[in-house]
Amino acid sequence: MSLTQDQRLTDITVADMMISSEKVAHVQVNNPLEHALLVLVKSGYSAVPVLDTSYKLVGTIGKTVILNQTLGLERFETEKLSDIKVKEIMKTDIPVLLKTNTFLEGLNKVINSPFVCVADKEGYFDGILTRRAILKHLRRDLSSRR
Ligand code: AMP
Repeated sequence: MSLTQDQRLTDITVADMMISSEKVAHVQVNNPLEHALLVLVKSGYSAVPVLDTSYKLVGTIGKTVILNQTLGLERFETEKLSDIKVKEIMKTDIPVLLKTNTFLEGLNKVINSPFVCVADKEGYFDGILTRRAILKHLRRDLSSRR
């Protein structure tokens, strides 16, 4: 939905601000770390959502945790990248939003993370809400009050 200039922050929902699932880079639980690192480096993102084979959200995975996992005493043990699966090191304790959540509920969740995943009540992945999107809407609202 496109927002009109006078739409107030209190009327905006997560659905109005999120990046929808088809535009979000993701990896699957059973992918090896090698694939996840490729997706992260090629996309330029620091972390992406992890989905299961039925497209349910199960966690997120980032570059730092992958690199830490391969860090040996004296070198990066890159051979580990093909042995370890995403599900073994992904972060599963993550905040999740619903599309119907309000602007304020979205704002509260992106304070501690550059993006938060959006899923429906059954856990099917809908997209992500980024801190950037929240800040853009806030700026638009503040500018319209001047
Ligand atoms: P940005 O607000 O564009 O700086 O994005 C912040 C973070 O959100 C990125 O580092 C990624 O972890 C995630 N992100 C943003 N856009 C996407 C996308 N299209 N696909 C996957 N992750 C994304």
